[in-house]
Amino acid sequence: MIHYHASWVVPITEPPVRDSWVAVDRGRIVALSRRRPADGTTEVDLGEVAILPGLVNAHTHLELSYLRDQVPPSSTFVAWIRDVMSARGTRPDPGSPEILGAVDRAIDEALACGTAVVGDISNTLVTFGPLARSPLAAIVFYELIRFNTPDARAVVERASQTLEALAPTERVRASLAAHAPYSVAPLVFRAIRQAVDRDPFSACSVHLSESAEEMEFIRTGGGPWRAMLEELGSWDPTWVPPGGTPVQFLDESGFLDGRVLAVHGVQMNAADLQRLAARGTTLVTCPRSNGHTGAGAPPLDEFYHSGVRVAVGTDSLASAPDLNVFAELATMRALAPSVPAAALLDSATRQGSRALGFDADFGTIESGKLARLLAVTVPAGTSNVEEYLVSGIAREQIRWIE
Ligand SMILES: [Zn+2]
Repeated sequence: MIHYHASWVVPITEPPVRDSWVAVDRGRIVALSRRRPADGTTEVDLGEVAILPGLVNAHTHLELSYLRDQVPPSSTFVAWIRDVMSARGTRPDPGSPEILGAVDRAIDEALACGTAVVGDISNTLVTFGPLARSPLAAIVFYELIRFNTPDARAVVERASQTLEALAPTERVRASLAAHAPYSVAPLVFRAIRQAVDRDPFSACSVHLSESAEEMEFIRTGGGPWRAMLEELGSWDPTWVPPGGTPVQFLDESGFLDGRVLAVHGVQMNAADLQRLAARGTTLVTCPRSNGHTGAGAPPLDEFYHSGVRVAVGTDSLASAPDLNVFAELATMRALAPSVPAAALLDSATRQGSRALGFDADFGTIESGKLARLLAVTVPAGTSNVEEYLVSGIAREQIRWIE
């Protein structure tokens, strides 16, 4: 047993504790104590640091890491997607060294920035192997994009079989995801929901209410998305716009529940947020990406006041400058100065772990959980350590305890 001493411990389950010890035995947390351990026990003084749980990046696309700095910021979302498509036009083979090398570097970066768990979206599953070999815990969401198909069940059945062929580890699992309401047919949503329901432990993800163009498409069936689907040959002439909002549409389809991560929510209104809160759906916010893609700034104050569960993601390196969740928190703090720092930290730890089904092992400092703990250097004399931790932490300040 080792007792780690720090100037601050941030357990997430309660306010930060000054000058305390965290006892760790064989990789698990045993206790958090304000008292010095008995003589003769092994004590490690970490000094002026805050000990906190490893962070959770609940939304990223590691397979897009090769597009880092390749897609410029845009003022509208559909224009940005067009830029992504042209950057991907010369896409290397999914298993090529260019893609896989960038995935490995992205995993290293996430770890160096204090990430313990990721929710990774993949269209090719090339990230599963690298994640399974890394120290990260992860759900790899095998994401389906299919707006026009004669046989939705077969599309989802094939994807389920592909997932069954993967060998999950104790820390890395795979599950299905739907891309978005403007790119996935209603019957594909239904089949994904049914497939997810067969596995009581699986989570599911969907990009939801990200852009103004998505809102227009679901409300009227027109606008830039309609034009894009037609251009791509993916338009389904039998599709009838549901009207209302994307949240309303997916909720009334029976898609939303406590196992769904709804990503972005930039365009959600108060009624949408109430629906998500009532279903126990977790809203994953990625504000730096939203700024880059032209989706706009997420209404974080409304998110937190609505009572919806909020987690944090960086999104991919095609739309975010790095995979540092602490940097995402600093952007959240700047956008929503009145949201308590404790709530932001809760989003980046406990909420993300819970949404991804890793809360038995990650997300808080509690006895029995894995000791995947960070020691972040804090200046001597820091009085509000939570506020400091959401002010922007550089990777040089972060190290893993064990
Ligand atoms: Zn995404």
